[in-house]
Amino acid sequence: MTSSKSSLEGGLVELSEEQQAVVATVREFVEREVFPVAEELEARDEFPEKIVEQMRELGLFGLTVPEEHGGAGLDLLTYALVGVELSRGWMSLSGILNTHFMAVYLLKKHGNDEQRQRWLPKMASGGLRAALSMSEPGAGSDVQSIQCRAVREGDHYVVNGTKMWVTNGLRAGLVVLLCKTDPEAKPAHKGMSLLFVEKEPGANTFEGITIPPNIEKMGYHGVETTELVFENHRVPARNLLGSEGDGFRQVMDAIEVGRVNVAARAVGLATRAFEEAIRYAQQRQAFGKPIAQHQMIQEKLADMATKLEAARLMMLQAAKKKSAGERSDLEAGMAKYFCTEACHEIVTEALRVHGGYGYSAEYTIERLYRDAPFLLIGEGTSEIQKLVIARQLLERYKIEG
Ligand SMILES: Cc1cc2nc3c(=O)[nH]c(=O)nc-3n(C[C@H](O)[C@H](O)[C@H](O)COP(=O)(O)OP(=O)(O)OC[C@H]3O[C@@H](n4cnc5c(N)ncnc54)[C@H](O)[C@@H]3O)c2cc1C
Repeated sequence: MTSSKSSLEGGLVELSEEQQAVVATVREFVEREVFPVAEELEARDEFPEKIVEQMRELGLFGLTVPEEHGGAGLDLLTYALVGVELSRGWMSLSGILNTHFMAVYLLKKHGNDEQRQRWLPKMASGGLRAALSMSEPGAGSDVQSIQCRAVREGDHYVVNGTKMWVTNGLRAGLVVLLCKTDPEAKPAHKGMSLLFVEKEPGANTFEGITIPPNIEKMGYHGVETTELVFENHRVPARNLLGSEGDGFRQVMDAIEVGRVNVAARAVGLATRAFEEAIRYAQQRQAFGKPIAQHQMIQEKLADMATKLEAARLMMLQAAKKKSAGERSDLEAGMAKYFCTEACHEIVTEALRVHGGYGYSAEYTIERLYRDAPFLLIGEGTSEIQKLVIARQLLERYKIEG
């Protein structure tokens, strides 16, 4: 399918010439370099070294890093649009970028000058890549119940605990780690802090950090997801972000960036599913005509495209709000919830349009169908998004008495 027809363009958010140029460049790169190899790379479940190198050359790791630190200084909206294009090719590529961008966001917003100067230039080039680690074996949605502990000893913190589901956990040189510096604090979030952990990228053991073999997943291959086991790992106290006790607030701020990214991924994935379905529907014959000529298939295509357009507009609005530097629990939560559920429905319908062939690994839709469920879970499940949305609504519409 040609790039001019590759996605439905939303009209509510005006894109600058620069944003349009970035999107066009990434779209062309994805169609040329990613489309032909995505199925093979997904099946091999190997890290896509060559494509990541090309992404570095394109400057994608530095997209939102300020120009003074060697990046392009672009906003979250541009980043979201890039996430759509990458996910249209292969969702794993946007996973390689997302935790990196959340770390950049945290450094820009909550870091000090010394921290920014130390890490941002290397992050801009992609020479240093970042992971973000909140979840644990016993705590995902309930972030405040994490157990990972950091104890201050002189000018270091000594970290102990096990983290779970760390995207980019092996190859990251920098891990933004959520831990407890005061486990007795009430409420619990006041005892949580973010530490920037520096480690050797690609090493399974490093100074008190052990990384077991990658977690095997249903889809979302190529990008590694790992545990991180800390045993008396020492982190310099200067790697603390802000002050002790700020961690929960900081990470909830950054997770809105992640939610916009996941919404963008969902739009990219759903766009590809729709494209695959509308093409297949015109090629496949049943009862003497292309299945696209049967009304029930047309109904599916109409529903898919309508949901996709709504998702795209919600994602753009949320990205625009967060780009303006505001907290956007409500918009990011709604976009994450709606776009990922819509994506799941669109991908399922696209699979049905393919009939039996949709179940064959020879067709792209099979890969999309395995990737889509992750979006319902990562950066907070749909159930958690609904709680976030409802909490905001009840605050906004609070009545007295
Ligand atoms: C491939 C992958 C990559 C990931 N990458 C990262 C990463 O890089 N960094 C990171 O920190 N984490 C990461 N995660 C973890 C992810 O954020 C968590 O899986 C997610 O937040 C859900 O947590 P959980 O798996 O512990 O589920 P649980 O919290 O145990 O939830 C189980 C079920 O209960 C529901 N539930 C929980 N609480 C409530 C409630 N109050 N009301 C109603 N329903 C509720 C949930 O919605 C869900 O349906 C990743 C996960 C996956 C699968």
